[in-house]
Amino acid sequence: MSTSPAPGFGRAKKALGQHFLHESAYIDRIIDAVAPRPDDRVVEIGPGQGALTLPLLRRHGALTVIEFDRDLIAPLTHAASTVGALEIIHRDVLEVDFTALAGGGPRLRLVGNLPYNISSPILFHALEHAGAITDMHFMLQKEVVERMAAPPGSKTYGRLSVMLQASCIVVPLFTVPPGAFRPPPKVDSAVVRLAPKPPGETGIDDPARFAAVVRAAFGQRRKTLRNALSGLCDEATISAAGIDPQSRAEQLPVQDFIRLANTPSAA
Ligand code: SAM
Repeated sequence: MSTSPAPGFGRAKKALGQHFLHESAYIDRIIDAVAPRPDDRVVEIGPGQGALTLPLLRRHGALTVIEFDRDLIAPLTHAASTVGALEIIHRDVLEVDFTALAGGGPRLRLVGNLPYNISSPILFHALEHAGAITDMHFMLQKEVVERMAAPPGSKTYGRLSVMLQASCIVVPLFTVPPGAFRPPPKVDSAVVRLAPKPPGETGIDDPARFAAVVRAAFGQRRKTLRNALSGLCDEATISAAGIDPQSRAEQLPVQDFIRLANTPSAA
């Protein structure tokens, strides 16, 4: 699918999840939600044709952006030249080391109307660098934001909910209709704020084991925990963590997953 390009830019590329924001009311709401302070290091993922980039640059004076589409680099450079100091990193965001990018300076404030086809990998990639990130303001599919913020027992509570809520404060901000984008996506969108907890304050002893337990528990969500976790946590370990081995992952609060993963297991 493609649509008429903004002056100087090419057509939208579906394979790169390009849906460009054009409604200024929503652009303003995102910038107001970010509310950059003078010393903040703001980094935008997927600047596209600059819908968020240029207002952010106007307000903040300096910005780093990460864009994969080579055809957007020259027009973006041109559009920003009289507005502020724009650093463009022409790379796949999944290959960008956010910890190195922060480089011991201020932690990063990430912003992005994300390409929806790779939004979950981007979220998990950012979590691996949680110590280098102050917060993230992301536009995602509304359904993904609902899953991120879902409470235990709800239909949409799953691996994404547990992984994100364990390591971040998740605040859904507002929804955005398809008509705010060109071309319009087929789904509603929503903006969410994620504030990573400092890595030492999550209560998770071993992040790799925690991720493995959560993945296994929801990999077979209809099974009881005793069955879904076989090979990873035996029944005695589940009980020792104060959890009923007959319960199912979708009922288990985030803190219980953390306690379970922290409990030594013979399995
Ligand atoms: N920020 C712009 C806006 O709001 O109009 C564009 C948003 S568009 C939904 C997503 C942007 O992410 C596009 O510019 C696309 O080229 C870029 N993108 C897609 N995959 C990417 C990747 N792996 N790494 C970096 N940027 C990517």
